[in-house]
Amino acid sequence: MMKGTDSIRSLKGIGDKTEQIFRSAGIETIDDLITLYPRYYLTYEEPVSIADAQPGIRVAVYGKITNALAYRQFKGLKITTCNIRDHSGALGLIWYNMPYMRKQLHQGDTRIFVGTPVMKNGRLVMEHPETFTEEAYRKQRQTLQPVYPLSRGLTNKMIVKAISQTVDYMREIPEYLPDEIIKKYHFPDYGLALQHVHFPVERQDVIEAKRRLIFDEFFIFLAAMRMIKEQNGVIENHYKIYETKESRDFMRNLPFDLTGAQMRALQEMKADLQKDEAMNRLVQGDVGSGKTILAVILLLMTATNGYQGALMAPTEVLAVQHYETFCKMLEPYQIRIALLTGSTKAKEKREIYKKLENHEIDIVIGTHALIQEKVNYRCLALVITDEQHRFGVKQREALYRKGLEPHVLVMSATPIPRTLALIIYGDLSISVIDELPANRLPIKNCVVNTSYRPNAYRFIEKQVAMGHQAYVICPMVEESENLEAENVTEYTKILRQNLSPSIRIECLNGRMKAADKNRIMEEFGKGKINVLVSTTVIEVGINVPNATVMMVENAERFGLAQLHQLRGRIGRGDSQSYCIFISGKDNEETKKRLEILNRSNDGFYIANEDLKLRGPGDFFGVRQSGMMDFVLADIYQNADLLKMADDSIRSLEENGFSFGNLNNDRLKKQLELALQL
Ligand code: ADP
Ligand code: MG
Repeated sequence: MMKGTDSIRSLKGIGDKTEQIFRSAGIETIDDLITLYPRYYLTYEEPVSIADAQPGIRVAVYGKITNALAYRQFKGLKITTCNIRDHSGALGLIWYNMPYMRKQLHQGDTRIFVGTPVMKNGRLVMEHPETFTEEAYRKQRQTLQPVYPLSRGLTNKMIVKAISQTVDYMREIPEYLPDEIIKKYHFPDYGLALQHVHFPVERQDVIEAKRRLIFDEFFIFLAAMRMIKEQNGVIENHYKIYETKESRDFMRNLPFDLTGAQMRALQEMKADLQKDEAMNRLVQGDVGSGKTILAVILLLMTATNGYQGALMAPTEVLAVQHYETFCKMLEPYQIRIALLTGSTKAKEKREIYKKLENHEIDIVIGTHALIQEKVNYRCLALVITDEQHRFGVKQREALYRKGLEPHVLVMSATPIPRTLALIIYGDLSISVIDELPANRLPIKNCVVNTSYRPNAYRFIEKQVAMGHQAYVICPMVEESENLEAENVTEYTKILRQNLSPSIRIECLNGRMKAADKNRIMEEFGKGKINVLVSTTVIEVGINVPNATVMMVENAERFGLAQLHQLRGRIGRGDSQSYCIFISGKDNEETKKRLEILNRSNDGFYIANEDLKLRGPGDFFGVRQSGMMDFVLADIYQNADLLKMADDSIRSLEENGFSFGNLNNDRLKKQLELALQL
């Protein structure tokens, strides 16, 4: 009998090497494997005209092979190529290390080819297309193929092969949610939901399975929060923090006046720091509303009251930027500031650990490495997390386990409606910064099609000539980070050919080493790089006020919330900023969605309108707020399930149910998992 805790080694086809590949994706046991959910499902759509095929978007085309398949070897690769044509245009096909394709396809054959075209040497080609005869394609049209999140070495085939061996096990998994919940909401059993999410027969299977699994994510999250609360009770304020000479001096010398909303939030937090209970607050403010300065003020107060403070950022790039901001702003006050991230060298790390223990560091800035096991603080009084939209449960638990009970402040740009925030953030108090600094000119937006590209390039050149900088965002590639990196590199080449050679263009992508990313970001921050081509890795937090242009390629492929975040990288200084959304698709729906962004720079408004357009419970679309750290769940799209989970927990509690006192093994295990770092 298979057990959830069994190693995936027990499956057929998984030897040392494959095990290692799974392991580096965080999958070691059967339970890890079956909770690796598909990101989406491939459907096989009607073929489009070749002329409508676009880089980065998977399509089917119906074409005739116009030449004999050519074969050559290059740098150890066996490359097979040919061209196809339909009434509208031509497209190249490429296969690597599949020389036998020459036996399978011939000049004159007409087939349906499915794949994601990419630009190669300035021309559109499809690599490794799936190939069907018309009849075979008719059958394929009716299937839903799960597509899993891939990482280096891990292919969809490997995952499907492994998971398909666990179907019997999934069938046997006992239900762990109370019966009344299952009945009330007509959920499928846990085991059935798992089977259906991996191997749906029809769309309805996916919808029902996902409802159940998303409900579970919310339920477990909220239950874990309850459990901590039950265990910890009210946290006493051990660190009363007051204004100091330095903090007053800092406030007097600010280069700008705080907005009314910033002042209000600051007052609320200052009051918190003196109460009997520890501060536990969320500051919610749209991109560019000026949250960082509040963190600076509070941490300066903390340090000069004789305590330590920490600032956590979700990415290393952002941590480095914050570190530099803090060093510059707090320079006059002799505050000891350190940076601690994943790429800090081992020796330096040990040094920092020691200094933190001895209180030779006042403020430490970094990624969530800051609260991991080895780090011990002498007197940690305040932890601020930036853009970590769901800081809470895990991290707070980690702090308490270390015997630390600091004040906690979470800063977020995610515009969560108050009713949902109250559920998600449970016991947090909330401050809202609903006002932008007065010097800001509203960003000017435009939504255009690809024929506008040359104009956009000329525009970027003009802005650079005026001393400004620009971001260009490349479309993400769903299938893999490799392809995405390639895309960005390719685009950078094209851009270099199209912009004046005096303009320095560099690129950034998720596959680069942290150190390289940091270097590029630093140079961009200093104005040494004029144009930064990037994937969405730059989306969170980055602040380069001199950048005035944001050009987003294939804007239709991003969620609106994400586009809003991206756009938030400009319009951060005194100069007029411009956002150019290039839409690769001209259909009505795309126009409507992008029009929302065109019309408004307000995150709340955008999130609401987007939801109206897509409708709640869009179980096939891209998650809107991929930043909330849930796997399947999206608090906007699944707000109804979030409320249901909250209701369920309340009614269980009213009936005397205690999460701290469980006799349900699987639920207990899920809660423990939710609490692990
Ligand atoms: P976010 O809320 O997105 O984190 P930041 O804190 O990075 O925004 O602030 C964006 C920019 O606005 C920074 O350059 C910051 O110095 C500046 N800023 C913050 N508050 C004000 C203000 N009251 N007046 C003018 N500029 C401000
Ligand atoms: Mg910020």
